[in-house]
This record gives sequence, structure tokens and C-alpha cells, in this order.
Amino acid sequence: MYVGLHHPRLHLENEEMIIMAEYVEIEIEEMDLFLGEEGFERIEPDAVGHPCKEAVYERSYDDSGCRIRIYSSVDIRNSAGRKAGSDAIRVVLVDPEGYPWNKSFKRVHRVVNWRNNLLQRINPVIDEYWKYPWQAPRECPKCQGGILRTRWGKKGPFMGCSNYNPTVRDSCRNTEAVQ
Ligand SMILES: [Zn+2]
Repeated sequence: MYVGLHHPRLHLENEEMIIMAEYVEIEIEEMDLFLGEEGFERIEPDAVGHPCKEAVYERSYDDSGCRIRIYSSVDIRNSAGRKAGSDAIRVVLVDPEGYPWNKSFKRVHRVVNWRNNLLQRINPVIDEYWKYPWQAPRECPKCQGGILRTRWGKKGPFMGCSNYNPTVRDSCRNTEAVQ
């Protein structure tokens, strides 16, 4: 009898095991308390141009004016989680103007361990802020009117041109290193 070489996957990554756990309700008071202790401040969703009524939190992590922003998935009106599919807690880094330049962080699901999982995203940024360097926008030297902005790619931070458009063949592809 032929025995296949492909074994079922027995090993699960931590993240996958956590997703299998049950979702929990998170009250706005819990989120306020936990993130308040971590140095975050709740800001009005409208103040950051966030159209839905989801609680948004921010704190700075270096002296650049950039902030860690957390979209909590908790509705400020009734503490309810948002609809399935968009109900994970998201962490991004925003520049001094509020533009999210680093969206590389894994989502945090609303499960029992949400606090620890969130700390795993936040603490490396706070403790090793120099690994997340951001530089102010500057004129692109390669094209007319383009602005080089700090972005985050697969290999980390780089300056990319605002005239770059992946669907336009001759758009500006100039990139520069963050100094
Ligand atoms: Zn350019």
C-alpha cells in the first residue's frame, strides 16, 4: 500500500493557534485603561479622518513627530466590535501629518490574549525606535513635481516618489535610502 509523503500539518504557529481561540468582547473602558497605561491617548476618529466610529489611539515613540496609531475595532458608541472581516485591531505608524507610512504590522485579533498580542506589535517600536526611521518629505530630483516620502517596503524604510504609479509604465520609479 502506498503511503503518501505529505503529512498533515501538525505544527501550528502561535498566531494560527490564537486565531482558533474564541473572540472576546472588548469594552471601551478596558481599551482606554490598557492603552492609557501604555502611554496612548484616545483621539476623535473624525480628527484623523477616520470615517467610522471606531476608537483610535495614538502615542509618539521618538522625537520625529511620528506616532503609533491603533485602530481598536471598538465602536465608541456601544463598545461593540465591528463587523467580521474588519474587526481586528490594527497598528500603523503615521507621520507628523497623520499619513500612515508603515502598515506592515500583523493584525491583532480580539481574543483573550489581545493585550499581549498588541504589546508584541507596539513594544519593539518603542524599545527600538531607531529601527523605524522616518524622514521628512523632500522634492524628487528625478521628476517634475514629485515628492519623496518615507514608506515601508519588504526590506524596511525607503523614500519613494509620489509620482510613482504601479499601473503607469513611465511613472517615476525613483527611490532613495532613508539617511
Ligand atoms: Zn519622482
